[in-house]
Amino acid sequence: MAHLYRPATAKVEVRIVKIISRNDWGAKPNKTKFSKLGEVKGLVIHWSAYPVAVGNQAEMDQCKQIQRLHQEDRGWNDVAYNFLVGDTGQIYEGRGFGNRSAAQGGNSRQEINYNNKHYVAVCWLGGSKPTDQPSAEARASISWLYEQVGGELRPHSSFKQTDCPGDAWRQWIIEKKTATIDELKKATNITAEDLSNASGAEMVHPQFIQKKLDTIIAKLENIENKLKLGRII
Ligand SMILES: [Zn+2]
Repeated sequence: MAHLYRPATAKVEVRIVKIISRNDWGAKPNKTKFSKLGEVKGLVIHWSAYPVAVGNQAEMDQCKQIQRLHQEDRGWNDVAYNFLVGDTGQIYEGRGFGNRSAAQGGNSRQEINYNNKHYVAVCWLGGSKPTDQPSAEARASISWLYEQVGGELRPHSSFKQTDCPGDAWRQWIIEKKTATIDELKKATNITAEDLSNASGAEMVHPQFIQKKLDTIIAKLENIENKLKLGRII
């Protein structure tokens, strides 16, 4: 059974994303019940550090390979990630929405528990070489996942010393944040167009002002979170 998710935000173009369920990619069951995610603070990008999977079959094979590594060699409950994404743009269900991942390292047990409890983990199926570049489709799918999760967008390397998820994803994250700064600039300007679109009553209506303030506050909170990561430019 495949699940269909629609982005919650209203957009002109609605992208329907199909997530390949565990059954459909041939996952083994998790060994024990999953722990639940706590309050979600953001999405963390990882790479598998295997050669880039080419095509759907190779992607499903790599999902199984990662699950074997995590369950058998490392003795974990299940594949560590909430989702896995291949260069086809296909998203594969790992632990799914709502369950705690086991992917985010930290410098202490306490940090690791916190990171896994509050951050959703997605793994790109590639990265055996530092020069590996994710496809536009993989980026679009991770972008979509981020829209669903919200909050911070972080590379695994922002939690601990690791190359994961590679320079290409780190650069992509910085570019996404830069775009958000441009959005902030737009959000803080009430343009002539805004005013001409609003009738006289709306211009002085508290809801009109409140809506603008809400947008600005949301953007500032987002920026504040990013500053905490020390990654903003
Ligand atoms: Zn990682």
